[in-house]
Amino acid sequence: MTTVTDYDFLYKILLIGDVRVGKTSFLTKYVKNTINRNQAPTLGVEYQTQNIVLQDGTIIKAQMWDTSGSEKYKSITTAHYRKSVGALLFYDLTDKTSFQNAADWLREIHDHTEEGIVIMLIGNKYDLVLEDPSARKVSTEEATNFVKKYHLLYMETSAKTGYNVKEAFETLVETVYEEQQKNQQGNSMEYARQIKLKKDGGQNKTEDVSQKGGCCN
Ligand code: GDP
Repeated sequence: MTTVTDYDFLYKILLIGDVRVGKTSFLTKYVKNTINRNQAPTLGVEYQTQNIVLQDGTIIKAQMWDTSGSEKYKSITTAHYRKSVGALLFYDLTDKTSFQNAADWLREIHDHTEEGIVIMLIGNKYDLVLEDPSARKVSTEEATNFVKKYHLLYMETSAKTGYNVKEAFETLVETVYEEQQKNQQGNSMEYARQIKLKKDGGQNKTEDVSQKGGCCN
């Protein structure tokens, strides 16, 4: 029996960060283009899916996991982190504590996911900063230093107005895809190199390649 899929790759993406920073609103805005006002906090984990067509025509099915920022649900949520290829790490631009906690969330991501996950830091509620610049409690410089230190992507967004919501999400997905392409290319180059070695110098040499860190004349 054959199964027909409407996508090329399935990406699991985590939305993570303190409670009330806007994760659910962001996801709702992205998927339905509406903001949920005064909604109840997310209990445990929920996910939504959306197909994204990349510039080269590749279709990514993004499975977006909205995790609860509450300690109470941590054990439920961390079990769902596995196999995530990307994460949106949220803080609220008007709430310094949510930014300070981002470092803990980052550790949490790295502790429960595989190496190579692409992470974007999101400074949300940008509309409040636009309305009143003194509402900003985290400077762009502070955020930039953080992302440089931990090699993250960064965007400031508003789940309320939709500012940068689509851009943030799709930049993350594009970056995951590019990274995977690069890795795949690296792997096939390595494979081709090993085949060449095999032809040139017999089987034993190919086994040595990985052991000796790739040096091989
Ligand atoms: P979560 O707990 O991280 O999922 O946060 P929610 O999405 O439930 O949002 C918490 C509160 O912040 C809700 O009252 C939202 O309406 C509000 N909110 C979320 N994003 C924004 C935003 O970008 N701007 C403003 N002004 N309010 C927001």
